[in-house]
Amino acid sequence: MFSGKTERLIARLRAAARDGRRVAAFKHKIDDRYDATHLITHTQDRFNAGRAHDAAAIELEAADAEVVGIDEAHFFGLPLVETARRLRAAGKRVIVVGIDNNAWGKPFTPLPQLAALADEIIQCTAPCRLCGKPARFSQRMVPVTSNLMVGGAESYEPRCENCFVPLPGHPPEEA
Ligand SMILES: [Zn+2]
Repeated sequence: MFSGKTERLIARLRAAARDGRRVAAFKHKIDDRYDATHLITHTQDRFNAGRAHDAAAIELEAADAEVVGIDEAHFFGLPLVETARRLRAAGKRVIVVGIDNNAWGKPFTPLPQLAALADEIIQCTAPCRLCGKPARFSQRMVPVTSNLMVGGAESYEPRCENCFVPLPGHPPEEA
């Protein structure tokens, strides 16, 4: 959310495009808070992206691509794991970014499952807003209505393990 992961994704996609690769980037349809047709960083850099309402839509639309980038992977749920597996089996390079812990402090499906398949994992962290240590958790600052971590920078702040206070109870989808 603040950790520069979308910046890294865009940098890799641009590098692949410079190498002459066919690149396709995707974001979830629900994630239109800044711009519906681009990946957007918090510094307002942007990269053209398709909007997918589910993982199957990515698979269809990425058919011609050699390199597939997926932002905010936590919006796609478990089906993204099979999609990523099939895209890779088709010879594509797949680059996925997402949040690995939800506001309850639990692993955020499907990031752990994707990590288990990955050739390379890069942990991006922002400094904890309270103490400055590397922050692996997202502290929800406004009321929660669903497990989907939609919201701009004002809705969350980065917290380290010590400063993070998990939301009580369980995410709605697990209730
Ligand atoms: Zn801290």
